[in-house]
Amino acid sequence: MTLSQNLPNHASVVVIGGGIMGCSTLYHLAKAGVSDAILLERNELTSGTTWHSAAQVRALRSSRNLTDLIRYSISLYSSLEQETGQATGWINKGSLSIATNPDRLNFIKRQEALAQLYGVSASSISVAEASERWPMMNTEDVIGAVWSPDDGRVGPSDLCAALIKGAKSRGAKIHEHCGVTGIKTRDDKIIGVETGSGEIACDAIAICTGLWSRENAAMAGVEVPLWPCEHFYLLTNPLDGISGNLPTLSDHDSHLYIRDDSGGLLVGCFEPMGKAIDPEQIGKDFAFQLLPEDWDHFEPMLENALHRLPCLADADIRMLLNGPESFTPDGSFLLGESAETRGLFLGCGMNSVGVATGGGAGMALAHCIVHGHTPTDLHEADPKRYPSCFNSIAALTARVPEILGTHYAIHYPGVQLHSARNLKLTPLHARWQARNAHFGQFSGWERALYFDKQQEPVLSFDKPDWFDQVGREVGYAQQQAAIFDQSSFGKIKVHGPDAEKFLNRVCTNDMTRSPGRAIYTAMLNSRGGYESDLTALRLGTQEYRLYVGTSAIKRDLAWLRRQQIPGEQVELADVTDAYAVLGLMGPETIAIAEQLAAPELNRLGYFEFCRSTLAGVAVEAARLSYVGETGWEISCPVSQAEKLLDAMVAAGAKPAGIFAQTSMRIEKRFLAYGHDLDTDMDPFQAGLEFALDWNSDFIGKAALLARRDQAPTSQLVSIVFDAIDAQPLGNEPVRHAGRIIGKTTSAAFGYRLGKPVAIALLETGTVKNLGGLKVDVDIARSQNAGTIFLNAAYDPRGSSMRATTR
Ligand SMILES: Cc1cc2nc3c(=O)[nH]c(=O)nc-3n(C[C@H](O)[C@H](O)[C@H](O)COP(=O)(O)OP(=O)(O)OC[C@H]3O[C@@H](n4cnc5c(N)ncnc54)[C@H](O)[C@@H]3O)c2cc1C
Repeated sequence: MTLSQNLPNHASVVVIGGGIMGCSTLYHLAKAGVSDAILLERNELTSGTTWHSAAQVRALRSSRNLTDLIRYSISLYSSLEQETGQATGWINKGSLSIATNPDRLNFIKRQEALAQLYGVSASSISVAEASERWPMMNTEDVIGAVWSPDDGRVGPSDLCAALIKGAKSRGAKIHEHCGVTGIKTRDDKIIGVETGSGEIACDAIAICTGLWSRENAAMAGVEVPLWPCEHFYLLTNPLDGISGNLPTLSDHDSHLYIRDDSGGLLVGCFEPMGKAIDPEQIGKDFAFQLLPEDWDHFEPMLENALHRLPCLADADIRMLLNGPESFTPDGSFLLGESAETRGLFLGCGMNSVGVATGGGAGMALAHCIVHGHTPTDLHEADPKRYPSCFNSIAALTARVPEILGTHYAIHYPGVQLHSARNLKLTPLHARWQARNAHFGQFSGWERALYFDKQQEPVLSFDKPDWFDQVGREVGYAQQQAAIFDQSSFGKIKVHGPDAEKFLNRVCTNDMTRSPGRAIYTAMLNSRGGYESDLTALRLGTQEYRLYVGTSAIKRDLAWLRRQQIPGEQVELADVTDAYAVLGLMGPETIAIAEQLAAPELNRLGYFEFCRSTLAGVAVEAARLSYVGETGWEISCPVSQAEKLLDAMVAAGAKPAGIFAQTSMRIEKRFLAYGHDLDTDMDPFQAGLEFALDWNSDFIGKAALLARRDQAPTSQLVSIVFDAIDAQPLGNEPVRHAGRIIGKTTSAAFGYRLGKPVAIALLETGTVKNLGGLKVDVDIARSQNAGTIFLNAAYDPRGSSMRATTR
């Protein structure tokens, strides 16, 4: 390796950290032509977490693009030896998932359907066949299994050696024993790094420093909410009956994965509650080291393992390996540019899939550094998704042990995490508590999911026990008057002489409309894909307030700031915490406005707003609706929110929660970012051309013009299910004539339709005339018939929500 004293003065990109993420990123940078990229490692390559990884590679993840990253890894790991001459230790023996209860069986069958949707091989097999694939397994309580032949494992250190060889052959340099001690920025942009051996000027850095990434990123003022947990697997000496390699056995009901290792067994676990450990306790010189064994903690897992593999009772235990691995507040990793500092890229927080994902994630990170965006939408990994409240040590140490356990938990609809709660409360929280709200956490915010909770919800894939209550709340909005607490929406003040000009460039719709108008618009990237969709209130000639998604505030603010041209007179401010937003919806709202002495609200046209006083509270009321019934989204200062709510309730309105709102927005085919919209989707596919102003030169226009005359290859539609008891959750394959033609993107029971309903993204190329077509939606491998509606399945003309007394 190069000696650290030979550091260059400048490198285009400095990759910090020599684990799988750093090695893969460097390899892909070099492959992309960044031949002066360098990697700095303060100890030795792989010496952090990577060297002791169990290095299982399972392809299926929760989204197609995350799955594709691992599929890319598999193809890279199986071909790198041919390219570099260095073996990676890739072994493709498949994996076997077993179920020991009906809910797990439902869950793994949903996974099987998802695998088919994403083009990953997976099929249900009988218990007898599972037993043939794993003869040592006790199958007395096994009720089903899914076989995934493409999965495998790799040798993590060999893999990194191959990646480094490939990177060096393309000009990249590696410096071991060269720790980064400082990060230099100017005007919130990366300009260099400091090391014990000198400084290196650079244009970008990639922080790939595993569990140390939080403290490293903090050197540049960047928040990286991750924290390590202790992570265990047991190794035995060679055992009779094990010859050659076995598939990985996933017994998630027992929190276990099991495979052979050097003729013995490797038994790893994701126990229900992990053990957090302070990175300071681990230290900076933790190279090729392990944490102490903890048999008390592992014992319940050992019991489970003895049940599944009785032969373990006779095995010689070699060691209980305990290594640190970083976990994040939502269980997904961080990949992309930080919100705070330009040129600071993150590839960390791998949540125990770093080796599986590393090949693809390094490719995506290198692409992001070179091109400014990931090759496909990866919003689940966008570092800008985390609110600051998750970056505290208290929140992280409470949350990450639970996240470790969720890896093998059944993902029930409506399931909530229990740790690190109450980080962000809406101004109406106490009122909702008094009404027995069941809260759900979203992007740190506690939001009322439904009211009048009688008991802790019983989680299930069948009809949920909140079903009737949510139906009642939908009924309030449809037939009476409901109040939806939308205070968690992000809110951005855009102000200054150039505000209009700026927004006309950044937003797709015509933002020149006069004060008093609300404007629905998109922000697109230069490829024509959605960065955000939002509603703007034009408050004055030089002032707008943008309402963005609850989880979008950091990301949208960063996007807006990065579109500013030097000299442009426009100021941006996050005013989320200044305003409460109450959606007052339903036919009785017309009378309520009169009762609260604000009849002018009833004179507003659709997408108009006015300043008014409701029950003595100064508000801005915008006539628009996310649920498809007539009413207003009403903003007021947070200090006045309870007073306003009390007045609305006294006038007869009743609270409704997020579950009711979600059901209603899906019936109306109102799209949600992260579910139906993302950076890969354009307005033609989304059916949102009405929000494009072709007379303005908005970002993304050129890309859209280039394909304006071609029919989009896919389209978002609605599907109404025939069967009242179908339980779609979203992300299910949609079939026509037996062939997969797309997937559901959002789904719920539609109370106004009396049927389950979904929004779905379907191919348009092969199937003509989607409208009215009968399709099958694959839910846990059972086919559920439904009919396609090109627009909203409920009130497609919008007559309910446009009803006014004007
Ligand atoms: C017991 C166990 C089993 C696992 N099993 C699997 C599995 O089966 N499949 C799977 O996909 N994943 C698994 N993982 C997780 C996987 O190993 C990790 O996600 C992955 O190795 C993390 O790689 P990394 O590059 O992000 O971090 P690391 O490997 O920790 O590399 C980070 C590097 O950064 C260096 N560094 C830190 N600070 C600085 C600095 N200031 N300057 C320079 N260098 C610095 C460190 O020295 C370190 O070498 C397992 C993890 C454990 C602990």
